[in-house]
Amino acid sequence: MLRRDSLQNLPEIMSTSVLRNLPSIDQLLRRDGVQPLIVSAGRDAVRDRLRDVLEDFRRELVGSNGHAGSLADAAALGEEIEQRLHSRFARRQQAQTQRVINATGVVLHTNLGRAPLSEAALAAINAVARDYSNLEYDLASGKRGKRGTGLETMLRELVGCEAAAVVNNCAAAVLITLNTLAEGGEVIVSRGELIEIGGSFRIPDVIAKSGARIREVGTTNRTRLSDYANAINEHTKVILRAHPSNYRVIGFTEKPALVELAALARQRGLPLFEDLGSGCLVDMNPLGIHDEPTVAQALKAGASVVAFSGDKLLGGPQAGIILGEAELIKRIKSNPLMRALRVDKLTFAALEATISAYLAGRAMAEIPVQAALHATKESITNRARLFIRRARKLNENLVLKLTDGHSVIGGGSAPETQLPTTLISLTSSQFSPDEMEEKFRLNSPPIITRIQDDKLVIDLRTISPDSEKEILTALAKLGRG
Ligand SMILES: *Cc1c(COP(=O)(O)O)cnc(C)c1O
Repeated sequence: MLRRDSLQNLPEIMSTSVLRNLPSIDQLLRRDGVQPLIVSAGRDAVRDRLRDVLEDFRRELVGSNGHAGSLADAAALGEEIEQRLHSRFARRQQAQTQRVINATGVVLHTNLGRAPLSEAALAAINAVARDYSNLEYDLASGKRGKRGTGLETMLRELVGCEAAAVVNNCAAAVLITLNTLAEGGEVIVSRGELIEIGGSFRIPDVIAKSGARIREVGTTNRTRLSDYANAINEHTKVILRAHPSNYRVIGFTEKPALVELAALARQRGLPLFEDLGSGCLVDMNPLGIHDEPTVAQALKAGASVVAFSGDKLLGGPQAGIILGEAELIKRIKSNPLMRALRVDKLTFAALEATISAYLAGRAMAEIPVQAALHATKESITNRARLFIRRARKLNENLVLKLTDGHSVIGGGSAPETQLPTTLISLTSSQFSPDEMEEKFRLNSPPIITRIQDDKLVIDLRTISPDSEKEILTALAKLGRG
């Protein structure tokens, strides 16, 4: 007992001189290096964080065995505390949601916020966010209206569905659809489609959460129409088809065409629900993407309901779009879960503006995701050449080269499709690739790159011309050390 006490007291004795020399909060607030923080974050916030820093510092001193000996003089202490204050604010700033430049060439990068929005979508968000809106107000009658009627009309025109509902994301769309149509009953799904999308979205788990039971049919690689037919019983409520977005089973495989499955479902009086995932609205075949059915194709083939994401190939805001037969959509909309999963006015505004571009036939020009996917290797090469010419003038320590490579669609879409691109590879006489990667990542704005064959590479496919200038500025800064 006695021994432990004396041991605990030892560091305290050793650091008392440091504690005595700690500057006061008021002294610290007067330091030159602290003034910019006061301007940006406000005096009260800086004072509060200084208290935190000092408290941590005291605790550390007490816990250390006189490590702070070197910091015994007041000037060094003030310096140290100021540094810690700055890193505290820097860490908080870094953790805040902010714009980053995606130089990875992954068009739908889930970690980087998936789809950047079109100018029209941004303008629409700005307009309805700034002022009041007709979110639930019918301008024609001057009475209460319903959310999303405008979007529903547009989607009907675009893909020929009877009705539409919008929820927070595609995971929510699958959940509410299955809960509405299959709660207490069985959902038939092929063993080849028991997928995990990432972020722990697993089809079997979502079926369980919807209150339905899963009825697996077929095998991982082969499921026949008769497997579905034989599994139908008095408990069956839905036949589910899930698009294996992020993987492919190749080789000895078989699955019924959607039309065949739809015919079976119709004949047995069951709804066929297809989780499309990406839900592209335009034909992707020209890009070499051959197994990403369009929404219109899925509906035409006879799916009763389809669900897909707003921020994958569609290129809009995060949302889950459910389309299909009016009677089924009506049931989904009156599910109490709808109130929990509904989207706000900003999402409606952005979605409508995005869909408008498709209706006008301008998606490829106006929607960043579509523009990035359709950018040719030639156009990227030309941009890369110009970029290199400029960069060389700004930083002599860099070796910049063009190399052939591939961009990736990402977002769990068409995993086997690679888009040919021209990469800019960077090597430096001053920094290793890892060091450069970090410097770019900690740049303002952050620039996210990738390392390939021990070189830092930049793919201009996912970079706007404005961002290109910011990368050049960062390159020049790198040259100055
Ligand atoms: C991506 C995906 C989902 C999940 O979509 P979120 O919009 O991210 O919730 C669901 N199903 C499939 C088939 C997908 O590809």
